[in-house]
Amino acid sequence: MLSNKHPNLGTLSVWAGEEEYLMQNATQVPVVHSVSFGYKNVDEWLQVALGQKSGHIYGRNTNPTVHVFEEKVRQLEGAEAATSAATGMGIISSTLFTLLSPGDRVVSVKDTYGGTNKLFIEFLPRFQIEVTLCDTIDHEAIEAEVAKGCQVLYLESPTNPTVKVIDIARLAEAGHEAGAIVIVDNTFATPINQNPLHLGTDLVLHSATKFLGGHADALGGVICGKKELVDQIYHFREINGATLHPMAAYLLLRGMKTLHLRIRQQNESALKIARFLSSHPVVERVFYPGLESHKGHEIARRQMRGFGGVLSFELKENTFEAVRRFLPRLRYAHAAANLGAVETIAGPPATTSHVECTAEERAAMGIPESLIRYSVGVEDTEDLIADLEQALNAIVL
Ligand SMILES: *Cc1c(COP(=O)(O)O)cnc(C)c1O
Repeated sequence: MLSNKHPNLGTLSVWAGEEEYLMQNATQVPVVHSVSFGYKNVDEWLQVALGQKSGHIYGRNTNPTVHVFEEKVRQLEGAEAATSAATGMGIISSTLFTLLSPGDRVVSVKDTYGGTNKLFIEFLPRFQIEVTLCDTIDHEAIEAEVAKGCQVLYLESPTNPTVKVIDIARLAEAGHEAGAIVIVDNTFATPINQNPLHLGTDLVLHSATKFLGGHADALGGVICGKKELVDQIYHFREINGATLHPMAAYLLLRGMKTLHLRIRQQNESALKIARFLSSHPVVERVFYPGLESHKGHEIARRQMRGFGGVLSFELKENTFEAVRRFLPRLRYAHAAANLGAVETIAGPPATTSHVECTAEERAAMGIPESLIRYSVGVEDTEDLIADLEQALNAIVL
């Protein structure tokens, strides 16, 4: 344990999980590729197998490098326990299939990540699990659905791609009154900006692929919360085999050492860029919780320490053709299906977050055809603004 009782989030980003040397006093966490762990002492092996002694048996279940990653996120989220998976979807599907059974009901919102939405509309119903998706920011409607009874209330805030904000404390209370397990996908906020467990939820999860890793070179997923729940999810994940690879865990750990620095810069840049875009004549609307005009601004101010590194905006010319002309003009942005990296990344939902959905489904979710999701990297803010300005100016000429 860290000697300081309440270290701050930056110190935790650097040190959490890494207080002890694992091998030969190496100061950096070793990448343990070994699939199995050997025991000369059979009694010790048995104790580890029975969970009476800490240790590792087989790599699909646990691994020392992966454990350090889980421990870092656990401490950043202020959780009792954490477990991981190979991807964000790996942890989301493991969680939902662990906690739900035929005849159960889950309440969620329309704006969840595209893959999560697919689980809700395509896969869970095949197992006789009833799914109700509410309008994302209609808190009364969500409360009413939850009050009818459900086993899981699944939330995401801010959402992808229009960065809507949900009042987590309010809905956690509603969920608990109905006896539901309340889960939040905290990928967009990161533990630097928001800790859903402190707002009363039972579980918080991340696609570590995004901001946690921050360098777009490793996939991963992680969930934290009550030990009793996390243990059940771990048990399902060790059986379904969606295990986080030790090399990916190492890359995620390395990225997380600068999490607080990156997020601080991205929060600051995103707000300036959102203000710039709001004043540009070619831009119809900007979605960013840091803007006073954003519907969820007051809630975001209450529950977040920063507004995050993702914003989206709609072009005045609301066609995919406008996106086709605009995107290639950006010099400092990968046109790619990712977010949360050190490089700026821009893309339309049709090819990124909602690639799994049809154009009609996107329209039903209120996602305009000319929407561009812009994940701010750690480049200098003025360079990003200049880049956006030249690309926006060019599409009107
Ligand atoms: C990317 C993402 C996911 C899925 O994560 P993968 O690591 O790609 O499986 C889940 N939720 C949100 C909010 C995401 O952005």
